[in-house]
Amino acid sequence: MAENSKIYLNKAQLKAEVDRCLNCKTQPCMQACPTHCNPREFIEYTKNGEGAKAAASIIRDNILGQTCGLVCPDKFCMKACLRAKLDFAINIPKVQATILENYRQNEREYQDVKENGLKIAVIGAGPAGLAAAAKLAEGGCRVDIFESQNCIGGALNLIPSTRLPKDVVQKDWAYVFNRKLVTLNLNTEIKDVKSLSGKYDWVVVAKGEPNVSALGIEGEEYALSYMEYLRHPEKYVTDGKVAVVGGGNVAVDCAFTAKMQGAKEVEMFVRRRTSNMRISRAEYMELVDNNIDVTSMTSPEKIEKSGDLLDLYVHKNEFINDKLTPMPDTTFKLSGFSLIIKAIGSRADSFNEEENIMYIGDCKHGASTVVEAVASGKQAAEQILSTI
Ligand code: SF4
Repeated sequence: MAENSKIYLNKAQLKAEVDRCLNCKTQPCMQACPTHCNPREFIEYTKNGEGAKAAASIIRDNILGQTCGLVCPDKFCMKACLRAKLDFAINIPKVQATILENYRQNEREYQDVKENGLKIAVIGAGPAGLAAAAKLAEGGCRVDIFESQNCIGGALNLIPSTRLPKDVVQKDWAYVFNRKLVTLNLNTEIKDVKSLSGKYDWVVVAKGEPNVSALGIEGEEYALSYMEYLRHPEKYVTDGKVAVVGGGNVAVDCAFTAKMQGAKEVEMFVRRRTSNMRISRAEYMELVDNNIDVTSMTSPEKIEKSGDLLDLYVHKNEFINDKLTPMPDTTFKLSGFSLIIKAIGSRADSFNEEENIMYIGDCKHGASTVVEAVASGKQAAEQILSTI
């Protein structure tokens, strides 16, 4: 409950927030949303006490509406919100998540969906795959989802539960999961996507980026990948000093998780400037509030094992003619880390587009936000449905 009061608005806060909406005719908030959610509409319903209609409006445009409401950065709808010209932007994502948490009705009924004869395989049950599957089923396709893990969500499962409680993805999916037309096959890895192309009208591949980028330094084997750490943080000792190499969202998630797991000191090493970090202002402020150090313009050089702990050698960087360059003679050694986590990104498997095989989400476009992955899945489904 304490956690809930942090991530959702209470009744009074929700009312105060929706009452600030200017009902803008041009709807810049909707234009800025990758899935074209309609904040003006769902805010208006909420103002009128029609919570269920507000919830249905959100889900119509974004099947992972509650998930996105909790993890969306402030660079889409909030950046576009015209209320900011008067005082500050409406916290649209939080309003969205709160509406779905409070007013969503039980699972939808799908008796009326008329089958269109298409059979689709979706590989990967992350946000892009789920969005594609839900939209395709809504359009009358039979959809088989193949997921290598034992649960849906993909990269969403790496987000700490303080930001995204573990049941939220399930709630979103339960609401749009058309059991008549969608079959979910968990623990089923499809290595050769071509093996499915003869059995389905379309194969939609949404495998994300499963390969963690390497640091390329001596002693790399002592660094833990962010994927492994965020999947099983409880497996690792984090009671002393923890280093996180990287400056994006997953690096921040690793830093917060290490703090939650009991690390006394957490230090992030970022090779560029702090202002270059791909995180929101709110996330940066949270780092400060949690006493997490950010050491910028610094790159790792070597990791050494010293008893049970690890030493990290780093050097400073500088920009020379806008090019990031190692600064000579600046190497220094930092000792006593219980854990060094590499979180500098990931890569997709290489692929070739084929006639009825479509690649979507992060495996096609590179690492993106959850809402962009959902938009990618939705667009792919619309493209397939337009061929009927
Ligand atoms: S831009 Fe902001 S104020 Fe205008 S309709 Fe959208 S949410 Fe309301």
